[in-house]
Amino acid sequence: MRAEDDFTRRAGALLRAAANDLKRDDENAERELGLEKGTFAEHASGKRPVTWELMRRAAEVWPLNERDLLPGHDDCPAGVRVMRHEESRASGRVLSRGGEPYYEYRDTAMSRVASYRPEWIRMLRVVEDDDPDNPLVQWNRGHLLYQFTYFIGPVNYYYRWNGVSHCVPMDTGDSVWGLPFAPHSFTSRSATEPACILALTYGGSLLGDAQRELAVLGNTTTRALAVPLAGDAWRPGAMIRSFMDAGAVTVTELADRTGLPPERAGELAGGAALPDAGELDLLAAALGVSVRDLLPPRTETADGVRLQHARSARSWVWPDDGAPAYRMTRLAGDPLHPHTTALQVDVLAGPAERSAPLTTYQHQYLYVLGDEPVDLHWEFAGERVAETLAPGDSAYVLPQVPVAFAAAREGARPRVLLLRISGSVTPEVRYAVGTMAAGGVDRYVAEDRLWYS
Ligand code: FE
Repeated sequence: MRAEDDFTRRAGALLRAAANDLKRDDENAERELGLEKGTFAEHASGKRPVTWELMRRAAEVWPLNERDLLPGHDDCPAGVRVMRHEESRASGRVLSRGGEPYYEYRDTAMSRVASYRPEWIRMLRVVEDDDPDNPLVQWNRGHLLYQFTYFIGPVNYYYRWNGVSHCVPMDTGDSVWGLPFAPHSFTSRSATEPACILALTYGGSLLGDAQRELAVLGNTTTRALAVPLAGDAWRPGAMIRSFMDAGAVTVTELADRTGLPPERAGELAGGAALPDAGELDLLAAALGVSVRDLLPPRTETADGVRLQHARSARSWVWPDDGAPAYRMTRLAGDPLHPHTTALQVDVLAGPAERSAPLTTYQHQYLYVLGDEPVDLHWEFAGERVAETLAPGDSAYVLPQVPVAFAAAREGARPRVLLLRISGSVTPEVRYAVGTMAAGGVDRYVAEDRLWYS
């Protein structure tokens, strides 16, 4: 199917799903949307396009947003989207800070399917110390997107958290993962050696619907919904209190339901104490939720970042010691984002060796590091595809598409960077899709008919 036809079909499916949700049959929908008799089904099935005018009208007469009717673009019809080094180089532009050239930016592989904004960046500012207050360092104000950074060459990394500035000298293979809106900067420690980073920014579930919903709800509500995990504002038991609010449950009622002494129930609800494993079971049963819903995530960030130096990074072979195809090295990440994984892959498999496909539920970005080309094999829609990627080439891979790497040259050891992230399909969504009634999945991704008859 042509990408354009597919877009039209998915737009039609969203229109049908919206009408179903609002309990409108075709006749009602046609009357309210000012459509000719018999045409709604044609729009909904993709036979006729859903025009801007039709979306505007629907958003006017029905309680929904234009955005609810807009499908995403599929710019990855082959499962993998490659961006060549040449194309990256052509996108290069120098950005000045404080009136002087500071960075050269180049785009690498991006897709409309995932929230990656991965840039290759060369440091143009050279410093001779690792002083975070060096006046040559130009700081940004931080940005919304999460940033995973992989370092190539003698790069100084600067970050600021709660007003305190830090500088860490980094080198090839070092990496860092950082939280949104923390100011940061990068410089080079050498006027002759290349000093670059791969700045792989991404929004994950912070972008899209959540951001739009919170923008409408406003500052005060957003602050009230935020759950700090450390610092002065941290108070344990946030989710216990949320579920108590949701169910209008008092401490007395919580004590009654759990069988805990009222003082203890009060401590757990107020955040003065943390529940033990047995109490978690009691609380979950009492509140009608799962234990996981009551547990906060863990973070190992210090001053907003997780640093991982190459010298202390964990490394192992895959799939097994007997016939390893890759040496994997674990790069920076944090338990706060369990669905983000960064790996450095040293490819041990030679050109003619059996392929060792890697599959993940995540969106996947890859960049060819070093000087050696790598053969990329993948399987999509029943077809096997292979491409040779040169150093500096990058690619985006759809979730669940198996990819395998092999050295393009006998005896070579190519190196690839992988950054895997989740998008809007959180575990909540995966559980929800997995518990639909029979036939539900097909209808969820492309509802094209009335919900009855
Ligand atoms: Fe940044």
